[in-house]
Amino acid sequence: MEKSITTNFIRDIIDEHIRIGRFGGRVHTRFPPEPNGYLHIGHAKAICISFGIARDYNGLCNLRMDDTNPEKEESEYVNAIIEDVRWLGFDWGDRLYYASDYFEKLYGYALELIKLGKAYVCDLNAEQIRDFRGTLTEPGKNSPFRDRSVKENLDLFERMRKGEFPDGSRTLRAKIDMASPNIIMRDPVLYRIKRENHHRTADKWCIYPMYDFAHCLSDSIEGITHSICTLEFENNRPLYDWILDQLKVHHPQQIEFARLNLSHTVLSKRKLLQLVQDSNVEGWDDPRMPTISGLRRRGYTPSSIRNFCDSIGVSKVDSIVDITVLENTIREELNKSAPRAMAVIKPLKVVITNYPEGKTEELEAINNPEDLSAGTRKVPFSRELYIEQEDFQETPPPKFFRLSPGKEVRLRYAYFVKCIGVVKDPKTGQIIEVHCTYDPATRGGDAPDGRKVKATLHWVSARHAIEAEVRLYELLFTARNPNDVPEGVDFRSNLNPKSLEILKEARLEPFLKDAPPGSRYQFERLGYFYLDPVFAKAGKRVFNRIVTLKDSWAKEAKKGLEKR
Ligand code: ATP
Ligand code: MG
Repeated sequence: MEKSITTNFIRDIIDEHIRIGRFGGRVHTRFPPEPNGYLHIGHAKAICISFGIARDYNGLCNLRMDDTNPEKEESEYVNAIIEDVRWLGFDWGDRLYYASDYFEKLYGYALELIKLGKAYVCDLNAEQIRDFRGTLTEPGKNSPFRDRSVKENLDLFERMRKGEFPDGSRTLRAKIDMASPNIIMRDPVLYRIKRENHHRTADKWCIYPMYDFAHCLSDSIEGITHSICTLEFENNRPLYDWILDQLKVHHPQQIEFARLNLSHTVLSKRKLLQLVQDSNVEGWDDPRMPTISGLRRRGYTPSSIRNFCDSIGVSKVDSIVDITVLENTIREELNKSAPRAMAVIKPLKVVITNYPEGKTEELEAINNPEDLSAGTRKVPFSRELYIEQEDFQETPPPKFFRLSPGKEVRLRYAYFVKCIGVVKDPKTGQIIEVHCTYDPATRGGDAPDGRKVKATLHWVSARHAIEAEVRLYELLFTARNPNDVPEGVDFRSNLNPKSLEILKEARLEPFLKDAPPGSRYQFERLGYFYLDPVFAKAGKRVFNRIVTLKDSWAKEAKKGLEKR
């Protein structure tokens, strides 16, 4: 995998640490997801930053499941996280860790803090703790249990572990400063009692460490040098540092960056879970989801996501990245690499009345004009074809240059054809066939007499085409920022009701019969498509549109550049 082409403030900090010999020149990062949902494109940014730094500095990056909160965590999520990080192309060697593996060690550190007089067992309940905490403008009040002796604290904490007290009745708290201007430093809770089955430790524990206690110590235990996280943890850094300083253990440097926000979608696991649970989408891997598994199912490549994360940069300022930036990355990549094919997604039958019945010609088509080494292929042409319904109008509006009665157009790689009439369903009046004649002298798509046509259409031979389902996707949300809703309004009021269109009658060029599941093509004039491997396993041929084409031929035709 290539090195990142851009530098950023995090890399500047690491360069400086290497220069002054901090951490002995070592670079060791980690990606610490909480397994309470599937990873999304925001996580991909965090993964690319931490794994990318390890890659570029010849360092290491651990994958750590931050599984200290037993309620919401499941092994399904653990497996999905592992699959997604691997798919993105990153490798943690044998360093897949679980914060829950450190429960015993963390308990030991808690005992040490108590012995240092830096932690105490508090009998206030959650509500009382909140009341004592004070506000941004007022200092908090000391807990009446703050001055318990070390001996009493040790005894009570050990009995908390043994399960002698009910849930929520006691906590272990750091003894810092109830008047600190940083509310997080006002004697934060380090442990709570919670009788909850844990996905790995089952019922072994009934006390669980809080994030701030577990996270810094997990980093320390693993010898992490740079603990990179998002800005919302900036206020937690003093606590991170305080705990490690009291215990005099290996002390990583926490560095915060602005999280990724993407337009027209949500990047909160809680909201994504709601979409899945309430069947607003078909699952975590629905191709409309901003999850890594959704993007994969849509047809995004790992390299396109890595390039996207690289291109948006790393900063300390929150912003919303437009989703078109993501779409452009895959479009650029596939423009270079995807073989071209012709596919008709809303078919309309065309009969070439002066073309012999039963005759088939093999016409030559270019596989990729951006990569001529991809060669050419043969496309069968015959008397009956399909074109897109949209490419024909019986009574065309002004400036409609495609097919209509009396008009001549080019069929790509084939011939000029001229419409001479239509056949309608006598009952509905709907056009069921378009009749054309072809000019045999225009074989390959050029007229020897130099005459021009204003449109080039894609087509498939009716007899040779294969059938497929095609799925077209639009933005999942109509609003640029779907989170921006008035109090009491569900963010899902911004869902786009037209985000999925299923076309079951598509007809494709015959070579696609053997397309391997998971392969990508440019369907000419329609966009880039991905043969869905999940449906393929179930014996169904479904092509997902990854993204549309930016430059349609129509635009080129306007510039008079159109050729074939
Ligand atoms: P969510 O808000 O979606 O629940 P989270 O921060 O709770 O996300 P974690 O599993 O704790 O999810 O995240 C693992 C890592 O990924 C953290 O270091 C977190 O900072 C980072 N991360 C999460 N969301 C984003 C994002 N949108 N952009 C960049 N990094 C992110
Ligand atoms: Mg989190």
